[in-house]
Parts: sequence; C-alpha cells; structure tokens
Amino acid sequence: MLSRCDVAVVGGGIAGLTAAALLAAEGLQVELLEAHSQSGGCAGTFRRGPYTFDVGATQVAGFEPGGIHQRLFRHFGLPLPQATPLDPGCSVQLAGDPEPIPVWRDPQRWQRERQRQFPGSERFWQLCAWLHRSNWAFAGRDPVLPPRNLWDLRQLLGAVAPASLASGVLVGATVADLLPLTGCGADQRLRRFLDLQLKLYSQEPADRTAALYGATVLAMAQEPLGLWHLQGSMQRLSEALEQALAQAGGRLRLRHRLQRLVAGPSGWRLEGVVAGQRPFVLEAEQVVNTLPPQLLPELLQGALPQGYRQRIHGFPDPSGALVLYAAVPRERLPEHLGLHAQLEWADPGNLFVSISAAGDGRAPEGQATLIASVFTPARPWFGLPEPLYQQRKQQAMAGIRAGLRSLLGLEPGDYLHAELATPRGFAGWTGRPFGFVGGLGQHPSRFGPFGLASRTPLPGLWLCGDAIYPGEGTAGVSLSAFTACRQLLAAGGRELQLAA
Ligand SMILES: Cc1cc2nc3c(=O)[nH]c(=O)nc-3n(C[C@H](O)[C@H](O)[C@H](O)COP(=O)(O)OP(=O)(O)OC[C@H]3O[C@@H](n4cnc5c(N)ncnc54)[C@H](O)[C@@H]3O)c2cc1C
Repeated sequence: MLSRCDVAVVGGGIAGLTAAALLAAEGLQVELLEAHSQSGGCAGTFRRGPYTFDVGATQVAGFEPGGIHQRLFRHFGLPLPQATPLDPGCSVQLAGDPEPIPVWRDPQRWQRERQRQFPGSERFWQLCAWLHRSNWAFAGRDPVLPPRNLWDLRQLLGAVAPASLASGVLVGATVADLLPLTGCGADQRLRRFLDLQLKLYSQEPADRTAALYGATVLAMAQEPLGLWHLQGSMQRLSEALEQALAQAGGRLRLRHRLQRLVAGPSGWRLEGVVAGQRPFVLEAEQVVNTLPPQLLPELLQGALPQGYRQRIHGFPDPSGALVLYAAVPRERLPEHLGLHAQLEWADPGNLFVSISAAGDGRAPEGQATLIASVFTPARPWFGLPEPLYQQRKQQAMAGIRAGLRSLLGLEPGDYLHAELATPRGFAGWTGRPFGFVGGLGQHPSRFGPFGLASRTPLPGLWLCGDAIYPGEGTAGVSLSAFTACRQLLAAGGRELQLAA
C-alpha cells in the first residue's frame, strides 16, 4: 500500500513527467507511476555496449524562445537540456532524384530551395505560411480543445483572434485540398514530398492531414521555430523533467505498473504490480492518465460510459514502427545530408534516418549511431508463429538496409552493430497496445475541435499524451499535459500560467 496523494499521474513518458512536475510545483502531493525501470517512454534511450540509442523520438521541437519546453523549464527555474538547432532539419530524398531536398532552417534559404525544387508552388507555401502564423498565434494563447465545459470554452474563445476565425474556415480541409486552390494540383513531385513529410509528423499523408496541422508541420524546421538535436541523448529531456519533479517534492515510482483504476466516493483507487509482481494500491483524489486511451476500457473495466467506450473502440488503429538501431564508422557517412533524412522507399516503406553528431555522447569517436524507422501496420506482427515472425523481421531488416545502401552507400561490412525493433518490442517497452506509436493521427475528423478531450466524463480523471490535442511529439504531449494540469487546477479554483 502506497500512501494517499492528491494526484496520481500514470505513465512516466514526457507527458506524464511534465504533468507531474507542473502539479508538484503547485504544491500538490504527486505520485508518478511508471511501469518501466526508467522514465522517457517513446522518448527514452537504451544502451548497447558503447552505444546509446534513442528509442523513438530523435529530434525535438519547442526549444525556441516561447516554445513549450523553453516555457516549462523557465517555469521550473531549471536550464533547458543542452541542444543544437538542426540545419537542415531534414533532407528528403525522393526516389529517382539525383540529390536530396534539404529543408533549411533559415526561412529565406528554404524559400529559395523550394522555389528551385518545386517551381510555381509559392502560392501553396504562402497559404501554408499564413495558416501556420494564425494557427501558431492561436496555439500560443493556450486554447483548450475540444471544449467540454464553460471554463474550457472561455479559454478557447480567449485564444481566438480574427485571423484564427479566417483560417478556421479551413478546419475541415486537408493539405491536399490546398494544392488545387493554389494551382499546384498537378504537381506530383510536390505531392510526394508533402506525403513523406506529413506522414512523418502527423501519421497521415497529404490527403488525410488536417490543413491547419499540416501547415505548422511544414514550417516546423524554420526559424523562429526549429528542430533540435539533444546533446547526450533524448533521455536528457526526461532526466531534466525528473529533476523538476524531485525539486518540487513529487515522487517518481519506477517499476509500478497500473492494472486497474477504480472510482470511489472520495477519489480514485489505483491497483497494480511492482517489480516482482507484488501488488500495490494507491489512493488519489485525481488521476492524470497519459497511457493511450485505447487502454481505458481495460483499466476502468465497466466504469466507462458506454458512448465514450464506443468512441474509443471506433478509433482507427495508429501505426506501429519498425526501427533499426545500428552503428557505423563515421567516415562511411556522407556529410551533406545533416543528421536527419527521409528516403522514399518501397519495401518495407519510407525511411526516416537519424544519425548521431560527432561528440554528442551516443557513439565512440570515429563512429556514429544510425537509427532508421519505418511505419508499419502493427497488428499483423502479433500472433505469428515464431519462425514466421523471425523471417518477417529478417526481411524487414534486409529491406531497410537496402534503403540505407541506396541513400548512404552503406555496405553490409560497414555495420558495427544492427538490431531491429518491431511493434512487439514497442509493446513491451512502452506498454502501448500492439506497440502503437503516435496518437490518433491528424485527420480533420480527429484534429483539434474533433479530437478526444483531456477532460473525461469521469470526475477527477484527466487525459494527456499523444492522443490529445495538439498531438504527438515531445512538444505536443507537453502542451497536452499543461492543458490537463490547467483544467485540474481550475476545477479547484486555481490558475496555472506559463510565461509566454
Ligand atoms: C519511432 C518513433 C520516432 C519518433 N520520433 C519523434 C521525433 O523525432 N520527435 C518527436 O518529438 N517525437 C517523436 N516521436 C513521438 C514521441 O516520442 C511521442 O509522441 C512522445 O514521446 C509520447 O509521449 P507520452 O508521454 O505521451 O507517451 P509514452 O512515451 O508512450 O509514455 C508512456 C509511459 O507510460 C508507461 N506505461 C505504460 N503502461 C503503463 C502502466 N500500465 N502503468 C504505468 N506506466 C505505464 C510507459 O512505460 C511509458 O514510459 C517518435 C515516436 C516513435 C515511436
């Protein structure tokens, strides 16, 4: 039996760490339950011999002045983890092209590059830029989406400005809808570029990504925003949030796996197991859940209202991921690509490649870690007989290595280390059903006002994480955690603000 607390936060990924640190800093007694032996979840790391691999997330947003991570660490009075801006943010290699398309950090340089790459497309980019500006200004005023009560609605209306109303006209549109509007409907090469970039950040291609979300994704790599590479490893972000939690008196309970959430007369009872299968029980007035909403029916058993349960059952499956964690001699890597690249590739699918920087602590001198990830339907990886599973894994590994040979010229003898994670591995690492990664995707029917709310129908149960507005990515889940904390505190008559 653990002690009773004000708030139990479930899941020690970036969403849970952020929520727990924010609430503890407000003087609440907070217990953060994490099933794994370390925090970080999809933004964690693991070690293999001399190498440190980032499990999932490899680049971070929100480190610019006014960005969510920067606002949070200023609020906690702690320095931001050391990071360098990525330039280019990514290099995109379309199949059959002689050279990759660098997505530069400097907005003018990127404008010149895209005009060279996609002649006649500037009207499309200008429309995206306008949508992004109004959307970003709206998001910066901390709206609550979707609103579920009067307080939420007040936050939403307070964030609306004339420009957001104008861009709101496009709330049901996809990025692909903007192409014919701007005279680019026939530009297949632009469309392939957009599909690659959008699938990476929104889980959906251009004809299924909400225009308002996609416009921001397409501006993410440029100043005054930008993408960053963390010094050391991705774990540094989690460690810094752990420090914020500890300095505020909150407790991180590692190896505590929640199995059941029971609503009681004066709050919640959390039942689960500690390492070694010993049971634990924790009582909390309120619960912030960061686990995927698909797990709620199982955690809450019969307590979920039927309509809500049906809505959750109706969500389409998010993607799974295949990820190759490799190490190679640094001299075998071309320098012109930068640290992140995308490759249009058929089998097993488009690759996203992340390379460690010299001296960033991930590989010994003269070597580099190389992580290549591919989206894959998750469920088919489960229930396979072991020999067939191993065979599929080998095929996927061979396909990814063929892609890396095409992109980087890597030969079989160049690999100092190589191992592949499938959705089975992600299910084990993150506790996510079928190893689903990302949230619900950014289709217009699930984006913003049409998404799942952080306020649930059950009093004292709040949600955040990558299925909640504004969606996946470390910056996205931190924003959703901030919103859930504001709501929780407002319900007790308190206000939480982060300086802009
Ligand atoms: C391959 C891949 C590449 C990515 N690349 C990027 C990128 O470059 N940039 C970026 O910003 N984002 C990226 N992302 C997305 C980003 O990592 C996630 O959106 C974000 O880290 C999710 O954080 P979270 O806290 O919502 O969830 P999670 O990270 O899943 O955290 C949930 C936590 O809950 C714990 N848990 C699970 N079950 C239980 C239980 N029953 N009881 C207690 N604890 C439990 C898990 O162990 C985990 O620590 C990537 C993701 C993947 C998988």
